[in-house]
Amino acid sequence: MNIVNNIFNELMQKNEKKKKIEICEDSDLPKRGWIQGCYSCCIPTSHTYLYENNIVNKYFTFHAYICKDCKNMNILNDNNFKNKLNGYIIDYLD
Ligand SMILES: [Zn+2]
Repeated sequence: MNIVNNIFNELMQKNEKKKKIEICEDSDLPKRGWIQGCYSCCIPTSHTYLYENNIVNKYFTFHAYICKDCKNMNILNDNNFKNKLNGYIIDYLD
């Protein structure tokens, strides 16, 4: 039984290792709400996307608020937008 508990604890620790950071544009929306300003165009949205980048870190995963229109425009592959996100992340990790 102890072995099962140990494995369970290890799994729990792994899941808790990385803190989820949400990236959104500043807006008048409540900071803790599930709707925030799209990081590209500021329109309120509930859609977030995991941003995979090459900034190596052990502690965080970054999720950007991106509205449907910007997602359809493939904003996550736009270099200017990626630079903006990377800038945010570098500032955050600083
Ligand atoms: Zn947008």
